[in-house]
Amino acid sequence: MSGRMIVAGASLGGLRAAEQLRAAGWTGGITVIGDEPHPPYNRPPLSKEVLAGKASFDSLAFTPKASATDVEWRLGTRIVSARLAGRTVELDDGAVLSYDGLVVATGMRPRRLRCPGPVAGRHTVRTIDDAQVLRDELIRPGARVVVVGAGFIGCEVAATAVGLGAAEVTVVDPLPLPMVAPLGEPLARELRRRHEERGVRFVLGAGVAGFEGGDRVTGVVLADGSVLRADVVVESVGSVANTEWLEGNGLDLSDGVLTDGQLRVGGRPDVVAVGDVARFPNARYDGVPRRVEHWSVPTDSAKHAAKVLVAGDAGPAPFAPLPTFWSDQHDFRLQSFGAPALGLGDIRVLDGDLTGDVLVGYHRDGLLVGVVALGGLSAARTAARYRAELLQQPALTPQGALS
Ligand SMILES: Cc1cc2nc3c(=O)[nH]c(=O)nc-3n(C[C@H](O)[C@H](O)[C@H](O)COP(=O)(O)OP(=O)(O)OC[C@H]3O[C@@H](n4cnc5c(N)ncnc54)[C@H](O)[C@@H]3O)c2cc1C
Repeated sequence: MSGRMIVAGASLGGLRAAEQLRAAGWTGGITVIGDEPHPPYNRPPLSKEVLAGKASFDSLAFTPKASATDVEWRLGTRIVSARLAGRTVELDDGAVLSYDGLVVATGMRPRRLRCPGPVAGRHTVRTIDDAQVLRDELIRPGARVVVVGAGFIGCEVAATAVGLGAAEVTVVDPLPLPMVAPLGEPLARELRRRHEERGVRFVLGAGVAGFEGGDRVTGVVLADGSVLRADVVVESVGSVANTEWLEGNGLDLSDGVLTDGQLRVGGRPDVVAVGDVARFPNARYDGVPRRVEHWSVPTDSAKHAAKVLVAGDAGPAPFAPLPTFWSDQHDFRLQSFGAPALGLGDIRVLDGDLTGDVLVGYHRDGLLVGVVALGGLSAARTAARYRAELLQQPALTPQGALS
């Protein structure tokens, strides 16, 4: 087999795509292009063990499978544009590379708050470099930390900051509860209680209007004019897809890159997307295209997309992953299987009780569509026992009726 596959993005999705292209039988060249200087590394510990100093930065690197040792890595190199019709990508050093197949795996970057005020002292956590800088700030004695955004990463960073001994840790969010959008009210309320019990303060239902300070931030100004004193600010307000390099090809880039049910981009047999950046319809659910920013998706999607790219039209059945995520905060873990967000209208406690180890089920039209455990590892194991049931559920239609 001759020719070349180009993988755009050298993180989890890019690495798994390269490995899976070999597993799918591609014997031609593979070039992985990534704008970070580092070989692929694991991001989840950046807001947890590594930020806490419980694991080293060196421990983050992935070890590529033996099948992928002949892959060409072009790191510290950004793709600036692509011409899908001509099957080329252009790099920031001016080189233009031709491909036979292209894997889009360029992921996300943190959204930033566009508010007036100083920039120094304001952080995001996406890369190894981000986490290294933030850790140095969090371990400064007496640090007052304000986390803007009570989603997964915001809650994880707040928990880690408490564990590091920060003098004050405050989480600000316009929503009424932390992580309420993915978890629903009962668990989000309990999550708040657990964080508060361990030293996190929440300022909820509040927007950020700006930042105070001279050379660096000293306070966060809220929409009502009040000010939270801060030495360190962590902005955790969502993410933006890295798709600018794909502009000009007539693609739907409104939220990541839209794919079909086979992860193909723009109806082309030679371009697929994987990982956080891919907005795909999941045949397991209602067929509505969504991006899923969970660690399991780059691996699942790379496995599927590689087969599609190598097999051409005779691809596998449509992509239908069972999403899974975990989130470690303080001494507890959230563990999810399925798509809880599709069942927020019918939430039931399946095991345990909310103040202890608990397993919550999310239903749509009476069908179980997701479970989330909150508590110790035994709760996470209980959640895992529901995988088989979730895998056996019939697909949903967009209206939520059985198909
Ligand atoms: C701090 C943190 C904690 C997390 N914790 C959890 C967790 O506990 N549980 C969980 O399930 N998930 C977690 N995740 C999510 C998980 O890490 C992501 O889903 C996963 O990293 C996505 O991988 P990806 O390869 O699709 O994208 P990314 O990891 O975003 O990689 C994309 C790569 O492409 C590069 N790139 C972008 N544009 C270009 C370009 N034009 N040219 C070349 N390269 C480019 C980027 O710099 C990046 O290196 C966490 C994420 C973060 C950031």
